[in-house]
Amino acid sequence: MNAAFDWRAEAARISFRDQAYIGGQFVDAVSGETFDRVSPVDGAVLARVAACDKQDVDRAVTAARAAFEKGIWADQSPKNRKRVLIRLAELIQKHANELALLETLDMGKPIANARNGDLRAVAECVRWYGEAIDKLYDEIAPTPKNALALVTREPLGVVGAVVPWNFPLLMAAWKFAPALAAGNSVVLKPAEQSPLSALRVAELAAEAGVPPGVFNVVPGMGETAGQALGRHMDVDALAFTGSTEVGKLFLKYSAESNMKIVSLECGGKTPNIVFADTPDLDAAAKGAADGIFYNSGQVCDAASRLLVEDKIHDVFLSKVAALAKNYQPSDPLDEKTQMGAMVDATQTKRVLSYIAKGQEEGATLALGGGQVRKETGGFYIEPTIFDHVENRMTIAREEIFGPVLSTITFKTADEAVKLANDSKYGLEANLWTNDLTKAHRIARSLRVGTVTINNRDGGGIEVPFGGYKQSGFGRDKSLHALDKYTQLKTTYISLG
Ligand code: NDP
Repeated sequence: MNAAFDWRAEAARISFRDQAYIGGQFVDAVSGETFDRVSPVDGAVLARVAACDKQDVDRAVTAARAAFEKGIWADQSPKNRKRVLIRLAELIQKHANELALLETLDMGKPIANARNGDLRAVAECVRWYGEAIDKLYDEIAPTPKNALALVTREPLGVVGAVVPWNFPLLMAAWKFAPALAAGNSVVLKPAEQSPLSALRVAELAAEAGVPPGVFNVVPGMGETAGQALGRHMDVDALAFTGSTEVGKLFLKYSAESNMKIVSLECGGKTPNIVFADTPDLDAAAKGAADGIFYNSGQVCDAASRLLVEDKIHDVFLSKVAALAKNYQPSDPLDEKTQMGAMVDATQTKRVLSYIAKGQEEGATLALGGGQVRKETGGFYIEPTIFDHVENRMTIAREEIFGPVLSTITFKTADEAVKLANDSKYGLEANLWTNDLTKAHRIARSLRVGTVTINNRDGGGIEVPFGGYKQSGFGRDKSLHALDKYTQLKTTYISLG
């Protein structure tokens, strides 16, 4: 990050794209309606953004379909699509300060995280799928000598993507980068809380050479724009990241419309299992604190359930509590800030109600629990730790999506596995131990899409990410993500 960069001054100067991006142009919603983008940093209205509805989604899908049918993108050679996506990655890197600032103003995350975390990952994601696409070969199936069977991958056509606000561009890039690389046209609906960076990236995509109609962005409400995309008869696939509740609606929309392919990346309640034999308790404590307080806990795989072996409960919890102090909420535009704002007033209220519920149900509030920095006009919650939590309590069962840790103790490995799996979610689990055999045995028993052992990382773009159970299905990241955006065609040829 450029040390001399004055984020506040830049925030005063920055301009916002506030119209929908359809068919290669910025346009108002047909209805002329807009919605206010209120910044959670200080409660100020940033922009009045086009509120797209069914008519706008229809225009975007029509533009996307026309571009697909004309073959202006789908029929380009993989090498050409690669060049364009790499150029887009470079433009994202070039404009990373601006894009990071848009995300911080829009949804309140610390600017250093937006710039050094999200934007780097977005550029890497776009570059990675660009690099990959001209290195994938199709298949020839084993057949008798008198036949030749080709198994080829084809783009689906029009892909809809509906994404949340917690990592606005990154969640979008996990969808649009592989979908575009495979030759599809895309209609993206960003969350109502965070449309600004996606609208700017649509413009950069055009500058990189993505043809008009291939990449469209329709900001708006979930119930109108999101639903219209989910129910559209000419959308071939819908890739969703968001809550389990809304994910289920997309299955319904598909069933009630054209049976479009749906892939869901939904919520989580990650168990972070810490054994007494953990080689480096300080590293584990840092993993536990980062795991729940990064992005104010607004992370689908936030390590929200700390399962700690009873022998080390006191010492471990005091280490996590000490580290939590680094996460006192402060100005998101200050590069030193580690924890910024909650996304909005609604989410703040929701998290505070879970904190109240935890106390009502008998858990011990060991740290934090309050709303702070009210004088800024923004929305901030302290890092919060609950102790003596039982897995049946609401705060251990439901996804809070805030900086709230629930601590549960266990005595044996079997008990830890049972607690970890006792959840409707199955996105990720973290595990800390010195015993490799035990670690592998437990990893196999955990019903989750990702297990991290002695780290909180979970890997970059090269590994798949997604859930078991009600955390969804389908995988983002890695070459496996391309399965969601392509279909296999068999061509069976008789050789006489
Ligand atoms: P929501 O499910 O509320 O929203 C996600 C997206 O769906 C938004 O674009 C939203 O639009 C849209 N939407 C909302 N209601 C409807 C509807 N009735 N029909 C169609 N679309 C709709 O989730 P949040 O934005 O609150 O994000 C938080 C959730 O996302 C958490 O549960 C979290 O676990 C999950 N998540 C999962 C990840 C994963 O990879 N598994 C990663 C990141 C987050 P709008 O906001 O405009 O109303």
